[in-house]
Amino acid sequence: MQNLENLQIAIIGAGMGGLTTALALAKRGFKSIDVYENAQDLGFVGAGIQLAPNMARVLDGLGVWRRIEAEAVDITETSVRDGATDNELAHVELGYIEKTYGYKHMVGHRASLAGGLYEGCKKQPAIKFHFGINAEYVEFGSRPSFIAVPRKQGEVSFRVECDVLLAADGIKSLARQEMLKRLNVHTGVRDTNQAAYRIMIHKDKLKDDPELLALINSTRVTRWIGAKRHIIAYAVSNNTIYNLSTIQPDTNFAAATNATYTTKGSKSAMMQVFDDFCPMVKRLLNYVPEGEVCEWKLRVHDPLPTWVHENVALLGDACHPTLPHLAQGAAQAIEDGAVIAAALSRLPDTTPDSINKALRVYEKVRKSRAETLVEMAAASGRALHLGDGAAKEERDRQFAALRQGKGPVPDKWADADVQREIYGFDCIKVTEERFDEYFGQMDNTPRDSKLA
Ligand SMILES: Cc1cc2nc3c(=O)[nH]c(=O)nc-3n(C[C@H](O)[C@H](O)[C@H](O)COP(=O)(O)OP(=O)(O)OC[C@H]3O[C@@H](n4cnc5c(N)ncnc54)[C@H](O)[C@@H]3O)c2cc1C
Repeated sequence: MQNLENLQIAIIGAGMGGLTTALALAKRGFKSIDVYENAQDLGFVGAGIQLAPNMARVLDGLGVWRRIEAEAVDITETSVRDGATDNELAHVELGYIEKTYGYKHMVGHRASLAGGLYEGCKKQPAIKFHFGINAEYVEFGSRPSFIAVPRKQGEVSFRVECDVLLAADGIKSLARQEMLKRLNVHTGVRDTNQAAYRIMIHKDKLKDDPELLALINSTRVTRWIGAKRHIIAYAVSNNTIYNLSTIQPDTNFAAATNATYTTKGSKSAMMQVFDDFCPMVKRLLNYVPEGEVCEWKLRVHDPLPTWVHENVALLGDACHPTLPHLAQGAAQAIEDGAVIAAALSRLPDTTPDSINKALRVYEKVRKSRAETLVEMAAASGRALHLGDGAAKEERDRQFAALRQGKGPVPDKWADADVQREIYGFDCIKVTEERFDEYFGQMDNTPRDSKLA
């Protein structure tokens, strides 16, 4: 039987999930980790990302948090406001977060998060990156494999075989489709009929506008809400860039979107979507340079019956894509990677059955948590986007009660009880403490089992 550290591990995808998984495995002593990424390099969409305490805890454990933190902005307060009037509906101070969870709530640039993880990976001789490779035709079994198809013309495809295959290939995951086909399960990606604009405005553009300069210099997350739409905004990159992310009905997508679900949006269409928002918000949107409006289509899928088949596991958006209202998509992919590494490092032996059981321990620790957060994010979106009527009145009554210090926050992201559930969970500790118990509960799954 081979040594645990020599297990051949292949990872498909070098997004936040794939990078974290590779680094966490290397830190646990695994020596053969190969990451296959379709893109030619790590070109990241220019956008902000929230760095919640549960994400920071994992990154700190991997030794990459301090560098990412140095470029991030510490969020001290959040304000939920009526988009049409800019009247404040709710205000939550976030100073307690660091005291309660050990890490501040920060926001940063995606490139900074991905870059920090990638730099961490590059210091590990065990990790090899293979860029410009599309992974296709995943085969399951005790030696899983896939065909690596180079994107460069003239280069020849080859089969990659390994002991453990981890698919971090995002919302359009081919591995997920093949796993479901193999298990005879029919479930697809669901349109949410919502889209998002991602916009960044550099500080020099706002230099003559004191009201907007105050926003970029602040440490506040602001959410402006209106019927079926909202904007969330905060400063990133040491307060030099103002990042805005919007959600609105997907009315601009008459045809199917491009391969990456990212299309350039039209500035005038964006201005129209927020036409009834207050003059300050419209002025802010108007500072976005023409041609720099990025539009994302938001998709999710129904919970999967399983994330693991034989010695293949799915992680991140491949198995639990979410709406962004809780800002937890990447954080959850990062938790997945840390838990997979913690579980595999506790394997009592390297037989295929034990590997499969350890992957199922990962699924047991992660699946219900991730799926609960996906549902919570969807519920928060429904509350934020209410049009006129009784439900909106009830939401606004809750916002009013909150101003007097009582009751839940309809914006779940800012609710202290929800935060406790999300930030208070130490995924690595749980895996380490419960591994033996969970591993002992797993039956040997018959090879080539089908769910239906
Ligand atoms: C509008 C919006 C705002 C968001 N805001 C936040 C936020 O504030 N905080 C947060 O935590 N999350 C946020 N998220 C979610 C977050 O971006 C995703 O959940 C996260 O990036 C998922 O990471 P991943 O590694 O699973 O997938 P991805 O980041 O999609 O990475 C998948 C990788 O796999 C590669 N790949 C795909 N197929 C193949 C193949 N066949 N072969 C080889 N490579 C392949 C892709 O090129 C890609 O690099 C937001 C999402 C959206 C849409």
